[in-house]
Amino acid sequence: MLDGLRAGLSEIIGDSSRVLTAPAVLDRLSHDFYWYSPILRPRLAAKVADAAVLPAAVEEVLAVLRFAGKHGVPVTVRGAGTGNYGQCVPLEGGILLDLSLMDKIEEITSGGVAVCQPGLRLGTLEAEARRRDWELRMYPSTLVKASVGGFLAGGSGGIGSVAHGGLRDFDNVRAIEIVTMEEEPRVVLHEGAAVQEILHAWGTNGVLTRIWFPLAPAVDWIQVLAAFDTYEHGFSFAESIATESVWQKRLVTVFEWPIPSFFTPIKQLTRAGKCLALFMIAKEQRSALCAAASAAGGEVTFSGPYDGPRTQPLLSDYTWNHTTLWAMKADSAYTYLQCGFSPTDCREQFRLLRARYGQDILFHIEFMKNGDGVVIPGAIPIVRFTSEDRLNDLIAYCRSIGVFVANPHVNYLEDGGRFREDNSQLRAKLRYDPRGLLNPGKMISFHKEAVSL
Ligand SMILES: Cc1cc2nc3c(=O)[nH]c(=O)nc-3n(C[C@H](O)[C@H](O)[C@H](O)COP(=O)(O)OP(=O)(O)OC[C@H]3O[C@@H](n4cnc5c(N)ncnc54)[C@H](O)[C@@H]3O)c2cc1C
Repeated sequence: MLDGLRAGLSEIIGDSSRVLTAPAVLDRLSHDFYWYSPILRPRLAAKVADAAVLPAAVEEVLAVLRFAGKHGVPVTVRGAGTGNYGQCVPLEGGILLDLSLMDKIEEITSGGVAVCQPGLRLGTLEAEARRRDWELRMYPSTLVKASVGGFLAGGSGGIGSVAHGGLRDFDNVRAIEIVTMEEEPRVVLHEGAAVQEILHAWGTNGVLTRIWFPLAPAVDWIQVLAAFDTYEHGFSFAESIATESVWQKRLVTVFEWPIPSFFTPIKQLTRAGKCLALFMIAKEQRSALCAAASAAGGEVTFSGPYDGPRTQPLLSDYTWNHTTLWAMKADSAYTYLQCGFSPTDCREQFRLLRARYGQDILFHIEFMKNGDGVVIPGAIPIVRFTSEDRLNDLIAYCRSIGVFVANPHVNYLEDGGRFREDNSQLRAKLRYDPRGLLNPGKMISFHKEAVSL
């Protein structure tokens, strides 16, 4: 059976070096950063694909899906494997479709839309766009490694979201071409609002093969770090920068102490016992920002230009979900949550959480614009893990006090916080993958028996 699968794939691809079967390679390609979650770690460690294939063109993707469909073999797509919740871990084995060779920028239009293949690294696109006076509207802190397709299928937002919102907001993805898993696979174009059916569906309802990704005019950014005596001071200052429209910003982040103590490579830029606020701000506003930080009682410990993904130090390496990585390196008992605090009641929410959980929750705020255009304190708090029950208690308590939680300790879409309430991702799955072969087990509301909604 396995030999037949591998021989079949080699015949389709016509190049056996692009069909991978070595156990160590399959193990690596079958996993992402699922180990961030102490709950998912034991559940997903042994899950592995039967073969991995690296298509180089959409025709090969079509052929692989046709072959898999004919033989009832599951297909799980992989971009760069930087997802956090085992999104690309094949729960039922089968074929791992690694799109890293489909990595071309086809065009950057004069209106600033990048037309690209899914395996293109976001860092490559950011660098190329900036050479042409454009830049990404938003990107995850895994910029250098992560792929455009993986970001659209598995991510939500990141650096830039304080100005441009998330992937699903404000026309931030213009169009997507997907290959379906129908009896006869097809290439289908989703444009405008129809992209919402495919975004953040973890490759369960189509394989993204071409993307129209709008850019923003490039800005000369300055990275700034400022230390504040207390979290309350640092938060309030960052909140003012994030919410006042006069500031042109790409990133506004706050870390309460002791989170900055985990950032060993930039230790000299932190201050013992103090909260750290981090900004990417337009070059013209550098002195105004530094003056405002000092006036608010902060100490500016660093300011320097951002020259693209190769900048050193690249301060975004400490933000978004990279913060969790630094915390886990410092102490493996740490894990995290993905939250959205209320822009009006967040101080009371912070107080309630501190009163109930003490230092078992550490505040790490990422300001972001929501779909209504309101800048809110998004957060990826660091959480000390003691037991699954206590973690679930924390999640339930957050929700009970109005804190939104996208649960990163489950391996299916529906509890991850970004499953569309109108069920459009599910409807697309029923249409494009009626046999349930794409990344099976990740969309639990899908049942093969259901033919319509
Ligand atoms: C340290 C760290 C920091 C992070 N920071 C952020 C952040 O700031 N913001 C954020 O949103 N995320 C963040 N993430 C999560 C992740 O890095 C991003 O979402 C990233 O964009 C995923 O891209 P990838 O190429 O690695 O995707 P993968 O992990 O390979 O795939 C992600 C999901 O998309 C599917 N997929 C991949 N390519 C395709 C395709 N072409 N067609 C259909 N389905 C596909 C996969 O099956 C999987 O379900 C972070 C993760 C880590 C480990």
